[in-house]
Amino acid sequence: MLDLSLSEEHIMLRDSVRAFVEKEISPIAGEFDRQHKSLYPKIIPKMAELGYLGVCFPESLGGAGLDYLALAIICEELERVDTALRVVMSVHTALNSCTLYQWGTPDQIEKYLIPQAQGKKISGFGLTEPGCGSDPAALQTRAVREGDDYILTGNKMWISLSDTADNFLVFARIGKEKGHQSIAAFIVERKMEGFSSNPIHDKLGLRTGDTGELILQNVRVPIENRLGEENEGFKIAMSALDSGRFTVAAGAIGTIRASLEAAIKYCSERKAFGKQIGKFELIQEHIAEMQAGYDISQLLVFKAAWLKNQGIRNTRETGMAKWQATNFALDAANRAIQIHGAYGYSADFPVERYWRNARANTILEGTNEIQKLLQGSYILGYRKPSVLRRELPPYTPET
Ligand SMILES: Cc1cc2nc3c(=O)[nH]c(=O)nc-3n(C[C@H](O)[C@H](O)[C@H](O)COP(=O)(O)OP(=O)(O)OC[C@H]3O[C@@H](n4cnc5c(N)ncnc54)[C@H](O)[C@@H]3O)c2cc1C
Repeated sequence: MLDLSLSEEHIMLRDSVRAFVEKEISPIAGEFDRQHKSLYPKIIPKMAELGYLGVCFPESLGGAGLDYLALAIICEELERVDTALRVVMSVHTALNSCTLYQWGTPDQIEKYLIPQAQGKKISGFGLTEPGCGSDPAALQTRAVREGDDYILTGNKMWISLSDTADNFLVFARIGKEKGHQSIAAFIVERKMEGFSSNPIHDKLGLRTGDTGELILQNVRVPIENRLGEENEGFKIAMSALDSGRFTVAAGAIGTIRASLEAAIKYCSERKAFGKQIGKFELIQEHIAEMQAGYDISQLLVFKAAWLKNQGIRNTRETGMAKWQATNFALDAANRAIQIHGAYGYSADFPVERYWRNARANTILEGTNEIQKLLQGSYILGYRKPSVLRRELPPYTPET
Protein backbone atom coordinates (compact mmCIF):
# COMPACT_ATOMS: atom_id res chain seq x y z
CA MET A 1 0.00 0.00 0.00
CA LEU A 2 1.32 3.44 -0.88
CA ASP A 3 1.72 5.47 2.30
CA LEU A 4 3.17 8.97 2.19
CA SER A 5 2.45 9.81 5.79
CA LEU A 6 5.28 10.36 8.24
CA SER A 7 5.45 7.96 11.17
CA GLU A 8 5.19 9.29 14.71
CA GLU A 9 8.95 8.77 15.00
CA HIS A 10 9.56 10.86 11.87
CA ILE A 11 7.29 13.64 13.12
CA MET A 12 9.07 13.70 16.48
CA LEU A 13 12.43 13.81 14.74
CA ARG A 14 11.30 16.61 12.40
CA ASP A 15 9.95 18.66 15.28
CA SER A 16 13.04 18.18 17.39
CA VAL A 17 15.44 19.11 14.55
CA ARG A 18 13.27 22.14 13.83
CA ALA A 19 13.39 23.20 17.47
CA PHE A 20 17.17 22.69 17.54
CA VAL A 21 17.86 24.81 14.45
CA GLU A 22 15.45 27.54 15.52
CA LYS A 23 17.14 27.83 18.90
CA GLU A 24 20.78 27.26 18.02
CA ILE A 25 21.30 28.26 14.39
CA SER A 26 18.58 30.65 13.18
CA PRO A 27 19.72 33.49 15.43
CA ILE A 28 23.35 33.33 14.24
CA ALA A 29 23.33 31.93 10.67
CA GLY A 30 23.09 35.32 8.92
CA GLU A 31 25.82 36.92 11.02
CA PHE A 32 28.20 33.98 10.64
CA ASP A 33 27.59 34.09 6.87
CA ARG A 34 28.42 37.81 6.73
CA GLN A 35 31.61 37.20 8.70
CA HIS A 36 32.58 34.12 6.65
CA LYS A 37 32.79 32.29 9.97
CA SER A 38 32.34 28.54 10.24
CA LEU A 39 29.40 27.24 12.24
CA TYR A 40 31.03 23.83 12.45
CA PRO A 41 33.05 24.05 15.68
CA LYS A 42 29.96 25.25 17.51
CA ILE A 43 27.27 23.09 15.91
CA ILE A 44 28.81 19.77 14.79
CA PRO A 45 29.34 18.55 18.39
CA LYS A 46 25.67 19.27 19.08
CA MET A 47 24.60 17.46 15.89
CA ALA A 48 26.69 14.51 17.08
CA GLU A 49 25.15 14.58 20.54
CA LEU A 50 21.64 14.60 19.06
CA GLY A 51 22.44 11.53 16.96
CA TYR A 52 21.99 13.21 13.57
CA LEU A 53 25.38 12.19 12.20
CA GLY A 54 24.60 8.49 12.43
CA VAL A 55 20.84 8.69 12.03
CA CYS A 56 20.45 5.92 9.43
CA PHE A 57 22.89 3.36 10.87
CA PRO A 58 21.87 0.58 13.24
CA GLU A 59 22.30 1.25 16.94
CA SER A 60 24.72 -1.68 17.03
CA LEU A 61 27.00 0.41 14.78
CA GLY A 62 26.73 3.56 16.86
CA GLY A 63 23.81 5.01 14.90
CA ALA A 64 20.28 6.08 15.81
CA GLY A 65 18.68 3.07 14.11
CA LEU A 66 16.32 5.14 11.95
CA ASP A 67 15.69 4.87 8.21
CA TYR A 68 16.77 6.84 5.13
CA LEU A 69 13.65 9.00 5.25
CA ALA A 70 14.82 10.16 8.68
CA LEU A 71 18.12 11.16 7.04
CA ALA A 72 16.15 13.20 4.48
CA ILE A 73 14.08 14.88 7.19
CA ILE A 74 17.21 16.04 9.02
CA CYS A 75 18.67 17.38 5.77
CA GLU A 76 15.53 19.36 4.96
CA GLU A 77 15.31 20.88 8.43
CA LEU A 78 19.01 21.78 8.59
CA GLU A 79 19.12 23.34 5.14
CA ARG A 80 15.98 25.35 5.84
CA VAL A 81 18.19 27.35 8.20
CA ASP A 82 21.72 26.90 6.86
CA THR A 83 22.88 24.90 3.84
CA ALA A 84 26.38 24.37 5.22
CA LEU A 85 24.94 22.21 8.01
CA ARG A 86 23.21 19.97 5.51
CA VAL A 87 26.59 19.68 3.75
CA VAL A 88 27.87 17.96 6.91
CA MET A 89 25.15 15.31 6.52
CA SER A 90 25.91 14.93 2.81
CA VAL A 91 29.64 14.56 3.22
CA HIS A 92 30.07 12.93 6.62
CA THR A 93 26.94 10.79 6.85
CA ALA A 94 26.13 10.03 3.22
CA LEU A 95 29.25 10.21 1.01
CA ASN A 96 31.62 8.81 3.59
CA SER A 97 29.81 6.86 6.33
CA CYS A 98 27.09 5.30 4.12
CA THR A 99 29.88 4.21 1.79
CA LEU A 100 31.75 2.55 4.65
CA TYR A 101 28.46 0.93 5.68
CA GLN A 102 28.07 -0.40 2.13
CA TRP A 103 31.62 -1.45 1.33
CA GLY A 104 33.55 -1.64 4.61
CA THR A 105 35.15 -4.76 6.06
CA PRO A 106 34.16 -5.64 9.65
CA ASP A 107 37.46 -4.08 10.81
CA GLN A 108 36.86 -0.87 8.84
CA ILE A 109 33.32 -0.65 10.21
CA GLU A 110 34.62 -1.09 13.74
CA LYS A 111 37.52 1.33 13.40
CA TYR A 112 35.94 4.05 11.25
CA LEU A 113 32.18 3.76 10.79
CA ILE A 114 31.23 3.34 14.45
CA PRO A 115 33.09 6.45 15.73
CA GLN A 116 31.75 8.39 12.73
CA ALA A 117 28.17 7.27 13.38
CA GLN A 118 28.62 8.33 17.00
CA GLY A 119 29.99 11.68 15.83
CA LYS A 120 33.29 11.14 17.62
CA LYS A 121 35.12 11.43 14.30
CA ILE A 122 34.09 13.58 11.33
CA SER A 123 34.66 12.49 7.75
CA GLY A 124 34.94 13.88 4.23
CA PHE A 125 35.07 12.73 0.62
CA GLY A 126 37.90 13.46 -1.80
CA LEU A 127 37.08 12.70 -5.41
CA THR A 128 37.32 16.03 -7.30
CA GLU A 129 40.76 17.28 -8.37
CA PRO A 130 41.99 20.62 -9.72
CA GLY A 131 41.83 19.19 -13.26
CA CYS A 132 38.66 17.07 -13.11
CA GLY A 133 35.24 17.07 -11.47
CA SER A 134 32.51 15.86 -13.82
CA ASP A 135 34.92 13.29 -15.25
CA PRO A 136 36.44 11.63 -12.19
CA ALA A 137 37.81 8.79 -14.33
CA ALA A 138 40.48 11.34 -15.35
CA LEU A 139 41.79 11.71 -11.80
CA GLN A 140 45.55 11.87 -11.35
CA THR A 141 46.16 11.23 -7.66
CA ARG A 142 48.36 8.15 -7.54
CA ALA A 143 48.57 5.22 -5.14
CA VAL A 144 51.72 3.14 -5.45
CA ARG A 145 51.90 -0.15 -3.58
CA GLU A 146 54.92 -0.53 -1.30
CA GLY A 147 54.83 -3.73 0.75
CA ASP A 148 51.68 -3.66 2.89
CA ASP A 149 51.10 0.05 2.27
CA TYR A 150 50.11 2.40 -0.53
CA ILE A 151 51.88 5.71 -1.02
CA LEU A 152 49.35 8.37 -2.06
CA THR A 153 50.39 11.52 -3.91
CA GLY A 154 48.17 14.17 -5.44
CA ASN A 155 45.74 17.01 -4.82
CA LYS A 156 42.01 17.05 -4.24
CA MET A 157 40.05 20.25 -4.81
CA TRP A 158 36.72 21.67 -3.68
CA ILE A 159 36.51 19.26 -0.76
CA SER A 160 33.85 20.04 1.83
CA LEU A 161 34.97 19.90 5.47
CA SER A 162 38.56 20.00 4.24
CA ASP A 163 39.75 21.65 7.45
CA THR A 164 37.21 19.97 9.72
CA ALA A 165 37.14 16.25 8.99
CA ASP A 166 39.36 13.69 10.70
CA ASN A 167 39.09 11.03 7.97
CA PHE A 168 38.58 11.23 4.23
CA LEU A 169 37.64 8.74 1.56
CA VAL A 170 40.23 9.47 -1.12
CA PHE A 171 40.16 8.08 -4.66
CA ALA A 172 43.48 7.41 -6.38
CA ARG A 173 44.83 5.72 -9.47
CA ILE A 174 46.66 2.45 -9.14
CA GLY A 175 48.71 1.33 -12.10
CA LYS A 176 49.25 3.09 -15.36
CA GLU A 177 46.00 2.61 -17.29
CA LYS A 178 43.78 5.63 -17.82
CA GLY A 179 40.03 5.58 -17.15
CA HIS A 180 37.93 4.18 -14.37
CA GLN A 181 39.33 0.64 -14.21
CA SER A 182 42.45 1.44 -12.22
CA ILE A 183 40.93 3.59 -9.46
CA ALA A 184 40.89 2.51 -5.81
CA ALA A 185 39.34 4.04 -2.67
CA PHE A 186 41.27 4.66 0.54
CA ILE A 187 40.43 5.75 4.05
CA VAL A 188 42.96 8.49 4.80
CA GLU A 189 43.35 10.05 8.23
CA ARG A 190 44.26 13.70 8.63
CA LYS A 191 46.92 12.73 11.13
CA MET A 192 48.79 10.60 8.57
CA GLU A 193 52.15 12.10 7.69
CA GLY A 194 52.16 14.03 4.41
CA PHE A 195 48.49 15.04 4.61
CA SER A 196 47.50 18.71 4.74
CA SER A 197 44.59 20.95 3.71
CA ASN A 198 44.08 24.53 2.55
CA PRO A 199 40.81 26.46 2.66
CA ILE A 200 39.26 28.12 -0.40
CA HIS A 201 38.42 31.74 0.43
CA ASP A 202 35.74 34.10 -0.93
CA LYS A 203 33.17 31.54 -1.99
CA LEU A 204 29.86 32.84 -3.36
CA GLY A 205 27.97 30.89 -0.69
CA LEU A 206 28.36 28.16 1.93
CA ARG A 207 30.42 30.64 3.91
CA THR A 208 29.56 29.08 7.24
CA GLY A 209 31.36 25.86 6.32
CA ASP A 210 34.82 25.10 5.01
CA THR A 211 35.63 23.90 1.50
CA GLY A 212 39.20 23.47 0.35
CA GLU A 213 42.08 21.55 -1.06
CA LEU A 214 43.60 18.30 0.23
CA ILE A 215 47.29 17.83 -0.38
CA LEU A 216 48.72 14.32 -0.26
CA GLN A 217 52.50 14.21 -0.26
CA ASN A 218 53.64 10.61 -0.08
CA VAL A 219 50.98 9.67 2.44
CA ARG A 220 51.55 6.10 3.61
CA VAL A 221 48.18 4.33 3.85
CA PRO A 222 48.06 0.74 5.13
CA ILE A 223 46.46 -1.87 2.88
CA GLU A 224 43.72 -2.46 5.45
CA ASN A 225 42.54 1.11 4.71
CA ARG A 226 41.76 0.31 1.10
CA LEU A 227 37.98 0.23 0.72
CA GLY A 228 36.90 -2.50 -1.70
CA GLU A 229 39.16 -4.11 -4.27
CA GLU A 230 41.88 -2.31 -6.21
CA ASN A 231 39.73 -1.80 -9.31
CA GLU A 232 36.48 -1.00 -7.46
CA GLY A 233 37.18 2.63 -6.60
CA PHE A 234 35.13 4.13 -9.40
CA LYS A 235 32.08 2.01 -8.59
CA ILE A 236 32.50 2.89 -4.92
CA ALA A 237 32.62 6.61 -5.78
CA MET A 238 29.48 6.34 -7.91
CA SER A 239 27.63 4.39 -5.20
CA ALA A 240 28.68 7.05 -2.69
CA LEU A 241 27.04 9.67 -4.92
CA ASP A 242 23.76 7.71 -4.77
CA SER A 243 23.79 8.41 -1.04
CA GLY A 244 25.16 11.95 -1.28
CA ARG A 245 22.81 13.20 -3.99
CA PHE A 246 19.86 11.95 -1.99
CA THR A 247 20.82 14.24 0.89
CA VAL A 248 21.45 17.19 -1.45
CA ALA A 249 17.94 16.75 -2.89
CA ALA A 250 16.41 16.48 0.58
CA GLY A 251 18.27 19.59 1.70
CA ALA A 252 17.11 21.54 -1.35
CA ILE A 253 13.52 21.07 -0.18
CA GLY A 254 14.55 22.95 2.95
CA THR A 255 15.74 25.89 0.83
CA ILE A 256 12.42 25.94 -1.01
CA ARG A 257 10.56 25.98 2.31
CA ALA A 258 12.75 28.71 3.74
CA SER A 259 12.26 30.81 0.59
CA LEU A 260 8.51 30.29 0.69
CA GLU A 261 8.28 31.18 4.37
CA ALA A 262 10.25 34.38 3.87
CA ALA A 263 8.20 35.29 0.78
CA ILE A 264 4.84 34.62 2.44
CA LYS A 265 5.81 36.79 5.42
CA TYR A 266 6.93 39.64 3.17
CA CYS A 267 3.75 39.38 1.06
CA SER A 268 1.66 40.40 4.05
CA GLU A 269 4.10 43.04 5.35
CA ARG A 270 4.83 44.99 2.17
CA LYS A 271 2.29 47.23 0.52
CA ALA A 272 2.26 48.71 -2.98
CA PHE A 273 -0.52 50.62 -4.72
CA GLY A 274 -2.38 50.62 -1.41
CA LYS A 275 -2.54 46.86 -0.88
CA GLN A 276 -0.48 43.94 0.36
CA ILE A 277 1.76 42.70 -2.46
CA GLY A 278 0.42 39.17 -1.89
CA LYS A 279 -2.85 40.33 -3.41
CA PHE A 280 -1.21 40.83 -6.81
CA GLU A 281 -1.71 37.86 -9.08
CA LEU A 282 1.83 38.00 -10.49
CA ILE A 283 3.16 37.67 -6.94
CA GLN A 284 0.75 34.78 -6.35
CA GLU A 285 2.21 33.13 -9.44
CA HIS A 286 5.66 33.19 -7.80
CA ILE A 287 4.22 31.61 -4.66
CA ALA A 288 2.37 28.95 -6.65
CA GLU A 289 5.52 28.04 -8.61
CA MET A 290 7.52 27.78 -5.38
CA GLN A 291 4.94 25.51 -3.81
CA ALA A 292 4.87 23.34 -6.96
CA GLY A 293 8.65 23.00 -6.69
CA TYR A 294 8.33 21.98 -3.07
CA ASP A 295 5.61 19.38 -3.70
CA ILE A 296 7.35 17.83 -6.73
CA SER A 297 10.74 17.72 -5.02
CA GLN A 298 9.34 16.23 -1.85
CA LEU A 299 7.65 13.42 -3.78
CA LEU A 300 10.88 12.65 -5.63
CA VAL A 301 12.81 12.53 -2.35
CA PHE A 302 10.14 10.36 -0.70
CA LYS A 303 10.36 7.95 -3.64
CA ALA A 304 14.15 7.75 -3.43
CA ALA A 305 13.91 7.24 0.35
CA TRP A 306 11.43 4.43 -0.11
CA LEU A 307 13.72 2.71 -2.63
CA LYS A 308 16.68 3.06 -0.28
CA ASN A 309 14.70 1.68 2.65
CA GLN A 310 13.81 -1.37 0.54
CA GLY A 311 17.41 -1.82 -0.63
CA ILE A 312 16.45 -1.23 -4.28
CA ARG A 313 19.01 0.50 -6.54
CA ASN A 314 18.01 4.10 -7.04
CA THR A 315 20.76 5.81 -9.05
CA ARG A 316 18.36 7.23 -11.63
CA GLU A 317 15.63 8.15 -9.16
CA THR A 318 18.10 9.82 -6.78
CA GLY A 319 19.72 11.68 -9.68
CA MET A 320 16.27 12.90 -10.76
CA ALA A 321 15.50 14.09 -7.24
CA LYS A 322 18.85 15.92 -7.01
CA TRP A 323 18.48 17.57 -10.41
CA GLN A 324 14.89 18.70 -9.93
CA ALA A 325 15.03 19.68 -6.26
CA THR A 326 18.21 21.75 -6.62
CA ASN A 327 16.82 23.56 -9.68
CA PHE A 328 13.55 24.23 -7.88
CA ALA A 329 15.47 25.46 -4.81
CA LEU A 330 17.50 27.92 -6.86
CA ASP A 331 14.34 29.07 -8.60
CA ALA A 332 12.49 29.44 -5.28
CA ALA A 333 15.28 31.52 -3.73
CA ASN A 334 15.38 33.67 -6.87
CA ARG A 335 11.63 34.24 -6.75
CA ALA A 336 11.86 35.07 -3.05
CA ILE A 337 14.42 37.79 -3.87
CA GLN A 338 12.10 39.14 -6.58
CA ILE A 339 9.18 39.26 -4.17
CA HIS A 340 11.33 41.23 -1.72
CA GLY A 341 12.18 43.79 -4.42
CA ALA A 342 15.28 45.84 -3.57
CA TYR A 343 15.29 44.52 0.00
CA GLY A 344 15.81 41.02 -1.39
CA TYR A 345 19.11 42.27 -2.74
CA SER A 346 20.35 43.12 0.73
CA ALA A 347 21.69 40.98 3.56
CA ASP A 348 19.04 42.51 5.84
CA PHE A 349 16.80 39.71 4.60
CA PRO A 350 17.90 36.06 4.40
CA VAL A 351 16.76 35.37 0.84
CA GLU A 352 19.97 36.49 -0.92
CA ARG A 353 21.86 34.01 1.35
CA TYR A 354 19.43 31.26 0.39
CA TRP A 355 20.13 31.96 -3.29
CA ARG A 356 23.93 32.07 -2.87
CA ASN A 357 23.85 28.79 -0.96
CA ALA A 358 21.43 27.11 -3.36
CA ARG A 359 23.74 28.04 -6.24
CA ALA A 360 26.31 25.46 -5.09
CA ASN A 361 23.87 22.57 -5.13
CA THR A 362 23.35 22.58 -8.90
CA ILE A 363 27.13 22.09 -9.23
CA LEU A 364 28.33 19.82 -6.42
CA GLU A 365 27.90 16.03 -6.42
CA GLY A 366 27.50 16.03 -10.18
CA THR A 367 26.38 19.14 -12.04
CA ASN A 368 22.82 19.30 -13.25
CA GLU A 369 24.09 18.91 -16.82
CA ILE A 370 25.53 15.56 -15.74
CA GLN A 371 22.23 14.66 -14.05
CA LYS A 372 20.38 15.34 -17.29
CA LEU A 373 22.82 13.19 -19.28
CA LEU A 374 22.33 10.41 -16.76
CA GLN A 375 18.55 10.54 -17.13
CA GLY A 376 18.74 10.64 -20.92
CA SER A 377 21.11 7.72 -21.17
CA TYR A 378 19.10 5.58 -18.72
CA ILE A 379 15.83 6.27 -20.48
CA LEU A 380 17.27 5.53 -23.93
CA GLY A 381 18.75 2.30 -22.58
CA TYR A 382 22.39 3.34 -23.20
CA ARG A 383 23.14 3.04 -19.50
CA LYS A 384 22.15 0.32 -17.04
CA PRO A 385 22.78 0.27 -13.30
CA SER A 386 26.21 -1.33 -12.87
CA VAL A 387 26.33 -4.58 -10.93
CA LEU A 388 27.84 -3.94 -7.51
CA ARG A 389 29.47 -6.50 -5.26
CA ARG A 390 27.96 -4.76 -2.24
CA GLU A 391 24.73 -2.73 -2.09
CA LEU A 392 23.83 -0.12 0.53
CA PRO A 393 22.04 -2.15 3.23
CA PRO A 394 18.26 -1.62 3.34
CA TYR A 395 16.65 -0.23 6.46
CA THR A 396 16.01 -3.04 8.92
CA PRO A 397 14.15 -2.07 12.09
CA GLU A 398 16.00 -3.29 15.17
CA THR A 399 14.02 -5.13 17.78
C1 LIG B 1 30.72 24.05 -2.55
C2 LIG B 1 31.26 22.80 -3.20
C3 LIG B 1 31.54 21.69 -2.41
C4 LIG B 1 32.10 20.55 -2.99
N1 LIG B 1 32.41 19.48 -2.20
C5 LIG B 1 33.04 18.39 -2.74
C6 LIG B 1 33.49 17.31 -1.92
O1 LIG B 1 33.28 17.31 -0.70
N2 LIG B 1 34.15 16.29 -2.50
C7 LIG B 1 34.40 16.25 -3.85
O2 LIG B 1 35.02 15.28 -4.30
N3 LIG B 1 33.99 17.26 -4.65
C8 LIG B 1 33.32 18.33 -4.13
N4 LIG B 1 32.91 19.37 -4.93
C9 LIG B 1 33.25 19.33 -6.35
C10 LIG B 1 32.07 19.08 -7.26
O3 LIG B 1 31.62 17.74 -7.15
C11 LIG B 1 32.51 19.42 -8.68
O4 LIG B 1 32.66 20.82 -8.71
C12 LIG B 1 31.50 19.00 -9.74
O5 LIG B 1 31.50 17.59 -9.89
C13 LIG B 1 31.79 19.63 -11.11
O6 LIG B 1 33.13 19.48 -11.45
P1 LIG B 1 33.97 20.77 -11.95
O7 LIG B 1 33.72 21.86 -10.99
O8 LIG B 1 35.36 20.31 -12.15
O9 LIG B 1 33.33 21.18 -13.32
P2 LIG B 1 33.72 20.60 -14.76
O10 LIG B 1 33.68 19.13 -14.76
O11 LIG B 1 34.98 21.27 -15.20
O12 LIG B 1 32.52 21.15 -15.63
C14 LIG B 1 32.47 22.49 -16.11
C15 LIG B 1 31.14 22.67 -16.85
O13 LIG B 1 31.08 21.75 -17.96
C16 LIG B 1 29.92 20.96 -17.86
N5 LIG B 1 30.19 19.62 -18.37
C17 LIG B 1 31.21 18.77 -18.04
N6 LIG B 1 31.10 17.63 -18.71
C18 LIG B 1 30.00 17.73 -19.50
C19 LIG B 1 29.35 16.87 -20.42
N7 LIG B 1 29.80 15.64 -20.67
N8 LIG B 1 28.24 17.33 -21.06
C20 LIG B 1 27.75 18.56 -20.78
N9 LIG B 1 28.33 19.42 -19.91
C21 LIG B 1 29.41 19.00 -19.27
C22 LIG B 1 29.58 20.93 -16.38
O14 LIG B 1 28.20 20.61 -16.16
C23 LIG B 1 29.93 22.34 -15.98
O15 LIG B 1 28.87 23.19 -16.30
C24 LIG B 1 32.33 20.51 -4.39
C25 LIG B 1 31.99 21.61 -5.18
C26 LIG B 1 31.47 22.75 -4.60
C27 LIG B 1 31.12 23.91 -5.46
